[in-house]
Amino acid sequence: MQNELTRKNIRLKEYDYSRAGYYFITICVKDGHEMLGSIAVGAATCRPYVKLSDIGKTVKDSIENIHGIYLHVSVDKYVIMPNHVHMILRVAATGDGRQIAAIGDGRQVAAIGDGRQVAAPTAISTVIGNMKRYVSMQCGFSIWQKSFHDHIIRNEADYRRIWRYIDENPARWTEDKYYVRENNTMTINELLTVCNEIAPPDCVWSGDNVGLLVDREGGVDRVLVALDVTLAVIGEAKELGAQVIISHHPVIFEPLKSVTYANATGRRVMALIKNNIACICMHTNYDGAQNGINDRLARLAGIVNPEILVNQDGKYGRFGLLEAPAELMEYAAGIKLALGGAAVRAHDAGRPVHKVCVGSGSSGGILSHAIGAGCDTFITGDVRHDVFCEARDMGINLIDAGHFATEDIMCELLIGELSVRAPRLKAVKALNSLKPYSEVF
Ligand SMILES: [Zn+2]
Repeated sequence: MQNELTRKNIRLKEYDYSRAGYYFITICVKDGHEMLGSIAVGAATCRPYVKLSDIGKTVKDSIENIHGIYLHVSVDKYVIMPNHVHMILRVAATGDGRQIAAIGDGRQVAAIGDGRQVAAPTAISTVIGNMKRYVSMQCGFSIWQKSFHDHIIRNEADYRRIWRYIDENPARWTEDKYYVRENNTMTINELLTVCNEIAPPDCVWSGDNVGLLVDREGGVDRVLVALDVTLAVIGEAKELGAQVIISHHPVIFEPLKSVTYANATGRRVMALIKNNIACICMHTNYDGAQNGINDRLARLAGIVNPEILVNQDGKYGRFGLLEAPAELMEYAAGIKLALGGAAVRAHDAGRPVHKVCVGSGSSGGILSHAIGAGCDTFITGDVRHDVFCEARDMGINLIDAGHFATEDIMCELLIGELSVRAPRLKAVKALNSLKPYSEVF
């Protein structure tokens, strides 16, 4: 890109501003409809570019034909965006030094610099008008907004700035003034930035898959928050008109080789894309974040000043002292109430509960770290049989408060954060964010 711009600038230096003109032209599609193409990312270059539609390809032809029709007019640089076109037009001077074309004035001239005769109309408005007409004729209907925007490029600095603006246009599409936002919306990337502030990606466990996992076209003003991206949750998002689901568990975890109806992940991804619903996942990065899930769980468990428990995976728990020691079965009943669970499972090591460690979700694997931190009690979910046996032999109280119950607290927590950091958004918890099973007593 840099080399190309430098070449252009060498040519620009030879250009006599009193004798010819450079113009920055912008032409828009009627009502901002994105019919010329869509933004895609080049597989080899990793750079955003505009994948042209058939209409976009016709526009490309019409631009590339300009110089063939008007010998004195060349297109130095252009970009076809989803709903507008930018270009730099260079108009040669006449032999007698008069400028061959001026915007809108419609003057005819007799010759261009090299003495060739030109019969064609030379006003920029005519060149653009004919180009627009050609495209509309090929499409069979009129696609353009009336008139166009123009800017006379007066010097090299101006030319450089505009050249670069055109070059970077596809990468900056969602910041573009022609980008049509839905009412009062954020872009999906703005929302992702907010999510990354709440749960910084550097807190993430290395094997995890977090962030924007399914994209969408257009902005976002309604968010549905759920623990899992199930078909019921996707259906609810569709009903509510929510353009994005923010979940704790990643909708895609294992690398996909295909997206089909043959498995649950394929069905979910199909449903999301079909309904243009995006999906952002905040998983172990939200577990570990300051004021994240484990901090919240620690407060609910009555830990006064929770400290971070780190293990080799970077998956963090929290630990600390209760205000006063408690008896295990009584304490476990309190945890059940605090988390709204139907039941908890507990191993009573015969010690009072005082120094407690929490690990949201399925954190049985960090039991030894809780013991190492000197805790007498560990609270998590999804505790395996062998972890209960381990707790018994190591003499530590263990409470299994449920995978769902220890993590579903993220919904309320996140909605609270979003209401402060992104007040334009309407975020609600999915009614279908439910345990995927029933308990039978
Ligand atoms: Zn989990």
